[in-house]
Amino acid sequence: TRPVGVLALQGDFREHIEVLRALGAEAVGVRRPEELAEVGGLIIPGGESTVIDKLSRTFGLAEPLKAAIARGLPVWGTCAGLIMLADRISDGIEGQQTLGGLDIEVRRNAFGSQSASFEVDLEMPVLGDPPLHAVFIRAPVVEAVGAGVRVLAQLDDARIVAVEQGSLLGTSFHPEITGDYRFHEYFLDRVAAQ
Ligand code: GLN
Repeated sequence: TRPVGVLALQGDFREHIEVLRALGAEAVGVRRPEELAEVGGLIIPGGESTVIDKLSRTFGLAEPLKAAIARGLPVWGTCAGLIMLADRISDGIEGQQTLGGLDIEVRRNAFGSQSASFEVDLEMPVLGDPPLHAVFIRAPVVEAVGAGVRVLAQLDDARIVAVEQGSLLGTSFHPEITGDYRFHEYFLDRVAAQ
């Protein structure tokens, strides 16, 4: 079996690598196209989407990433990673690009400054009970989804914070820092089924 990659350009990629290893998976950081070619799945971590966008283009990774997404590599984007997988951003900065793949529109920093960071217990039917403790840090929200997108979780006010479409997963929050790794297991199951 091939290792699972974590895009290691910027953001909290080390935390994801540690979680994957704790779950018994072989995990590697991905910075170069040759490294991307070796992995059987990829996590795009949280961080700053504008920076991940720029670095992915500078390092010649943007086109290989788009090709990998197009051929069905299982990819999970969290927070900034979710923004990278979105086809549309409602408030991107000038010139900001995404890889796309998820037929969704996201709004960056969607929670005002007062609640820029918060934690909730999130009902997630695909994970069963108990709810997943979710940490939101200057998080994006999914404002619109296309017909092929499955909503995996919503906040109490119905705002969408987790989605799935084909081989792609996206979450607004940070499951790598709470000690509850059921969403990482969900992703690894999908990688193994590939
Ligand atoms: N606000 C960041 C962005 O726009 C995302 C924050 C995060 O990944 N925790 O990229």
